[in-house]
Amino acid sequence: MLFDNHNRPLTYLRLAVTDRCNLRCSYCMPEHGLNWLSRSDLLTYEEMLRLCRILAALGIEKVRITGGEPLVRRDMMHFLDKLVGISGIKEVGLTTNGVATAQFVPQLKSLGIRSVNLSLDTLDRERFFQITRRDELPAVMETLHMLLDNDFRVRINAVVMDGVNDSDIIPLAEMAEIYPLDMRFIEEMPFNGGDHGTGIPAWNHVRILDTLRERWPALTRCTDAPESTSANYQAPGMQGRLGVIAAWTRSFCGTCNRIRVTPQGMLKTCLYDGGVLSIRDLMRAGADDAGLTEQLLQAFRQRPRDGWEAEKNAAEHGASMATIGG
Ligand code: SAM
Ligand code: SF4
Repeated sequence: MLFDNHNRPLTYLRLAVTDRCNLRCSYCMPEHGLNWLSRSDLLTYEEMLRLCRILAALGIEKVRITGGEPLVRRDMMHFLDKLVGISGIKEVGLTTNGVATAQFVPQLKSLGIRSVNLSLDTLDRERFFQITRRDELPAVMETLHMLLDNDFRVRINAVVMDGVNDSDIIPLAEMAEIYPLDMRFIEEMPFNGGDHGTGIPAWNHVRILDTLRERWPALTRCTDAPESTSANYQAPGMQGRLGVIAAWTRSFCGTCNRIRVTPQGMLKTCLYDGGVLSIRDLMRAGADDAGLTEQLLQAFRQRPRDGWEAEKNAAEHGASMATIGG
């Protein structure tokens, strides 16, 4: 098993495969998008598979594919087919906005991918357009129902923004009453590509939970895995669960088991760091697997204690979540 310098096991990789996206969520990127990475900046599929093999040999067991919107990268299914075959990788999941996902659901299922995180911040079409700057709610809902009909483990993520979608908390949460899904509410983080400032979120995990408890006074805490970033809850009769993710408050760092790799192949050992190792540059300079392994292990031995320490030491601030992967 792989451990960091704070004795936390590392078992989970979040791999962002592109910064491009078919939405423009205001909490993630400016209206005009980002200065997109060029193709040569991106890790190739071969480079990503090589990295995943090395990490699996070290102890990484779970990979979540994210982005940007992963399904806008060409030949994604071909890559996923190879990824699920890597020895040691026990679970592959996908995080998607659901816009172009429905068509891929049968293939995802046949690859054995069972866990999909779907971003959905409102059930109101107008507000969806206001938040994402695209009129795609019907496509996302089609994806959601296809996933549920095909027995995927579905987790919906909603970023809660004051005066924007706080009135959507209860309608979204009511979906967990009737469907077997996890509806999770996330504190807004300062990763919007510099479009506008974000300070302390007006909707922190306590306020979100209080709002849920007002509607469901009998809400009880579920037993979560120690490394869970969401605190999960259930009310009597509920099919699914409600979750709150203290992403800004950073209360889960003590058990964090995850590392991240950005679309340009930068290793992040904390969501809030600025990137600690260019895997792409090492690979392209000819590093062999033993050399790469050594560099990765060194980075894992210097992990910041928590997101506050990582943020303090980060050279760059105001990145877009599309270059981090969530
Ligand atoms: N495009 C895919 C999607 O939206 O699900 C995958 C990438 S997206 C960057 C991953 C997650 O990051 C989404 O659940 C999104 O809601 C979340 N996210 C993006 N910007 C955020 C922010 N500023 N604060 C909190 N969560 C954010
Ligand atoms: Fe795209 Fe996901 Fe960012 Fe929204 S949150 S702009 S869907 S990458």
